[in-house]
Parts: sequence; C-alpha cells; structure tokens
Amino acid sequence: MGVCAESIHQLTIPTPFHVGPVHVYLICGDTITLVDTGPLTKEGKEVLISELKNFGYSIKDIEQVILTHHHPDHVGLAGLFGHATIIGHRYLRPWLTKDRAFLNGCIEFFQKFYNEHGVPMEVVEKVRRTSQAYISFIEQADLNVIVKHGDKVPGLSGWKVIEVPGHAQNHIMIIREHDHTAIGADVLLASISSNALLEAPMKGEERPKTLLQYRHSLQVVKELNIKKLYPGHGEIIYEVNELINQRLQGHLERARAIKTIITGDRMSANDISYELFMKKHTIQPDLTFSETFGHIDMLVERGEIQMKKEGNYFLFYNE
Ligand SMILES: [Zn+2]
Repeated sequence: MGVCAESIHQLTIPTPFHVGPVHVYLICGDTITLVDTGPLTKEGKEVLISELKNFGYSIKDIEQVILTHHHPDHVGLAGLFGHATIIGHRYLRPWLTKDRAFLNGCIEFFQKFYNEHGVPMEVVEKVRRTSQAYISFIEQADLNVIVKHGDKVPGLSGWKVIEVPGHAQNHIMIIREHDHTAIGADVLLASISSNALLEAPMKGEERPKTLLQYRHSLQVVKELNIKKLYPGHGEIIYEVNELINQRLQGHLERARAIKTIITGDRMSANDISYELFMKKHTIQPDLTFSETFGHIDMLVERGEIQMKKEGNYFLFYNE
C-alpha cells in the first residue's frame, strides 16, 4: 500500500479520569498500527473492540502498537496486544512492566520531595493513594521496540519519531513528513493547557524541570510546521503554531501571577500552590502542585525568585 492510500482513523475511548475520553488512532498503512490503547477498564476494552470493528478490524489484526507515553488512558490496554510489536520510548518500559523497584523509587522520591516543600503528610498520603490507583488502570505489558528522537517509525514509511518530554518524561509523537500530519497525544490540546507533570528522576539523573522541558518541546514542535495535529483529547488542531504561542504566553502570565504571590516573605512551594489554587489544591494536590512547581522552576531558572534551604525545607523568596 502506498503512502497516499494510508488513512488515519480516530477512535474515542471512555476513561474514568477527569480529562474525559481519550483518542487513540488506527493507521491503515504498510503495517496495521494502533497509536495508544485507552485505559484498562471493562468499558474501555469494550469500546476499543467495537470501534476497531467499525473499521473492519479485530484486536488480532493490529500488527503494531505505538505508545505515546505512560499515562493509563494511553497505555492501559497494551496488554491486549501481546501478539503485536509494541513500540515506545525507553523510559516507558518501567511503567509498562510495572517494575516494582522503579515504582517504589518514585513513591520514595515524592515523599521526600513533597515533604521538603511543605506539603502536609495527609496530602502526601492522598497523592500516594491516587497514584497507586492510577497505575491499576495499566495492564502489565512490555516494549518490543524502543524508539528515539529522529528515528523512522518502524512499519510506517514516511513517518518519524519526535521526542517531546514535559507532560511525561517518555512522551513521543509521530509525524508524517510529506504532509506535516502528526499524532501528538498530550503534547498539545485544544481546550486545556497540557500539564507538565512532576516526575521522579530516572536512575542517575536529576529531577527533570518539567515545565522548562515542556516549553522546549513546544519549540521543537513549532519547527515541524505541523498542519494537522491529532490529539489525545478534544478537537483536532489545525492552527498548531498559533496555539503553541498561546500556551507559551500562558506560562509567562502564570509565572508572573506566581511571582506576585511571592513577596519578601519566605514561602514554601505548598504555600504558594495553596495561594494560587485555594480549595482546588486540596482536591487534586498532585496536579496543582505540578502546575505551581513547574512555574517556580521557571522563575528560579530566570533568576526572578530565589530558593533557599532551611533545615529540611526549601523556601522561595523574592528580593
Ligand atoms: Zn497524559
């Protein structure tokens, strides 16, 4: 089958998460490819099977699965495709295999990190429970092929892999170069700003400054001049670079707002997050804390606020 005959179909799978349904993509190209899978839920599985059936395919017909990043709404059902080639970034592996030592390391990192930044113990415990529940929406699977930035997509001629870390450390997208069409998953969403989620560092690395990383990824995406971007949630995006500019501007505005919160007094990241989000901070503390901390990283990096360690705690101030 030639590249021109290749078609991309959007399948929409329900999720139990706040973000709503997730889009996964069926590419009828040289190789029958699925990009992402939906979460491990009974309903998710049923809808994936029936949506595939609408296009004349069954689970067994899928020859390869490309996983964009480790979040359960994207990879939860990868275990259904044991017969297929599963493709993703190397940092996706410990999540997908549910590597015990790795997952425990993440929990330990966050307990210490949240603690040092003034998050109360009961909130830390709440975050731990939420993330454990979150992982249960992934069925254990493994990668057969690891891809990196600039690689050709195996089995799909004319497609390239782009690494876009920030929302997740292992986030990749794929682009069909001849017509600038891309499947971006959560790198850019039309209706909501994609959160640069805090993550524990991978072995031997420093804590990733996820918002800075995400902003860099957005610049990389901008240079691709994408004409049509298929997202993980919401509407298909055509004005890609315009939206990227809006998002980059939005970060600067939020950073400015955070800077005004940090007056001369020394504040913990938890205090800052509470000021910024008020009640919401206690409902979804992991998301609000990521959002706050990303911008704190940005302000520190730009020398607009300062960080100081006092005893076991980190405090921020603005002189
Ligand atoms: Zn995601």
